[in-house]
Amino acid sequence: MDYPKDIMSEILYDEKQIIARAQEIAKQINKDYENKALTLVCTLKGAVFFFTELMKYVTIDCRIEFIKASSYIGNTTMTIGNVKISKFMNFEIANRDILIVEDIVDTGLTCKELFAYFNTNKCSSVNVCTLLDKKKRRQTNIEPKYVGFEIDDKFVIGYGLDYNESYRNLPCVGVINPKYIK
Ligand code: 5GP
Repeated sequence: MDYPKDIMSEILYDEKQIIARAQEIAKQINKDYENKALTLVCTLKGAVFFFTELMKYVTIDCRIEFIKASSYIGNTTMTIGNVKISKFMNFEIANRDILIVEDIVDTGLTCKELFAYFNTNKCSSVNVCTLLDKKKRRQTNIEPKYVGFEIDDKFVIGYGLDYNESYRNLPCVGVINPKYIK
């Protein structure tokens, strides 16, 4: 079954725009992390599309790792501030420059937990690169080092972002049509 044609009430960024922005950010990362011990950490599942795009244009030596952080449950569109982090593989953190790649930073609570996690494990540095930033909703003082696009407080889907686990595979980012929110 295909997704309804009007699943997005508004398309915010298409694939071309996202790839172009990923290229720009990667260029900056190449400069900022030259001669550093960079580990790009993808937060599953939402960041996976952006992560793979970004990675392609990071040309300096780096490692990639995956972590799962979740703060939404079921079909809600509200953040619940109860962040769970699960590390899949035991990866080296000590003396590494950690760059967490996020799909979206909203309240910032997930980032706060991730920062606490990496900092207690003695990494050299920890920063965040996010495709989308809902800056106005921030409840913490943590700011991403790299932002793809700043967006308004609307629930978005596509390009890795889900609603109730669907719509991640849409090749653009858009606002979910409220008539599909249960
Ligand atoms: P925070 O902890 O910053 O409030 O939330 C971060 C997480 O909330 C993101 O990784 C993402 O999973 C989810 N999230 C926040 N806003 C949205 C949104 O507009 N759409 C979707 N699909 N997820 C969101």
